[in-house]
Amino acid sequence: MENFSIRSVQKKIKNGELHLKSIVGEFIGRIEQRDDLNAFLAVYKNAALAKAEEINNKIRSGNAGSLAGAVIAVKDNMAFKGGQLSCASKILENFVSPYDSTVAKKLTAADAIIIGKTNMDEFAMGSSGENSSVKPAKNPHNTSHVPGGSSSGSAVAVAANMCTAALGSDTGGSIRQPAAFCGIYGMKPTYGRISRYGLVAFASSLDQIGPLANSIDDLAVILQAISGNDVHDSTSAPEPVPEFSSRFSESIEGKTVGIPRQYMTEALQPEIADAINSTKAKLIAGGVKVVDVELKMLDYCIAAYYIICTAEASSNLSRYDGVRYGFRAENAKELDEMYTQTRVQGFGKEVKRRIMLGTYVLSAGYYDAYYRRALKARTLIRQDFENAFKQCDLMLSPTTPTTAFKLGENINDPLTMYLQDIYTVSLNLAGLPGLSIPAGRDSAALPIGLQLIGKPFDELSLLQTGYFLENTPDN
Ligand code: GLN
Repeated sequence: MENFSIRSVQKKIKNGELHLKSIVGEFIGRIEQRDDLNAFLAVYKNAALAKAEEINNKIRSGNAGSLAGAVIAVKDNMAFKGGQLSCASKILENFVSPYDSTVAKKLTAADAIIIGKTNMDEFAMGSSGENSSVKPAKNPHNTSHVPGGSSSGSAVAVAANMCTAALGSDTGGSIRQPAAFCGIYGMKPTYGRISRYGLVAFASSLDQIGPLANSIDDLAVILQAISGNDVHDSTSAPEPVPEFSSRFSESIEGKTVGIPRQYMTEALQPEIADAINSTKAKLIAGGVKVVDVELKMLDYCIAAYYIICTAEASSNLSRYDGVRYGFRAENAKELDEMYTQTRVQGFGKEVKRRIMLGTYVLSAGYYDAYYRRALKARTLIRQDFENAFKQCDLMLSPTTPTTAFKLGENINDPLTMYLQDIYTVSLNLAGLPGLSIPAGRDSAALPIGLQLIGKPFDELSLLQTGYFLENTPDN
């Protein structure tokens, strides 16, 4: 496969060595050829080819945007005007978006081509891609294994070279975990770094959009283009956006990286622990100080996350009532029956499980016992990170406890599935940025991913450390 990284493509088009149409054609060919991977729910073939002509001309004449030459796949929970917005749910199967999300607007304004909408776990609830109501996406490294979730299609599309890069959303790990399982880079920025306007809400206080890519360079360029404060999202942050795209390659010498002691348990797949150790050695050789840090709240993260995210989901998903959006059950005799039947038929099993759990933890009598306590745990988790960050600039941890598991292996055991998120959910609870980077393969040749954890709004240190590791060969 040729190097289709954004900057190299721009250079080649400018020199007349390459035409953007042939790149788009190659990606579309790959999408069609690997249809068995179930990465996409919609492909905008003709629109993408037409756009390629226009953007190629812009690059040649020197007035193109920063993402000219990039072909981007977008998770099907972000609005793109005139396109479907299904969240891989039957309840939104025929819904067409009347407007653009802020990220779609920013991508287009920077001259990226949006190639299509990617498969996902229904309403972004899942860790394997198997909760898609349409079809489960498959891991391109071994199709009997899951690609991770919920941004499964986005990770598959990038790993199988069906696009330059993709956008995903991450509520408890859904960018980082599939990136790890598919052997690519995936960044969940700080909460508020990127506008959520036009992202279908799952758990609003945890949801964050971010890029998945084959290199740190591409990741930085895309992050640069989509970050920033937005009048349409009052939770987007006024913080200035650093120069990610020009500063990601700066040296990390002299930085301190913490490794949370509690994360290195028996339950961790030994090959992932080995990857942590060899990464640690590379960092030390590069002049980085590595220290042990304490994150004592690890045992409470999953419980707090699944109470808070289900509570918020039960509220957010109450809007799908058969009246305003998408699917409506037929033959109901009364209004109540129409609501009930629409939701019974329109939502899948996991979504219903979460609506019920969330309604329960918010109900009078249980609110104090569950929801309020989960919020208190959330505060303690945030403080845990604040204390640990007194000793280091960033942290290194596993992204997941295991490499990609088999399709069907965990789907009937929700608790085991939820434990997949042990290393990722705490960052969403604390609002911190996290970057999953590829770190070799296990004995079955499945990718291993490691997570870099940053202080609030310090995505730059994560990119710089990721870049150092990307360019430091294993010895
Ligand atoms: N796997 C987690 C869940 O099922 C995270 C999902 C996400 O980040 N969207 O909730």
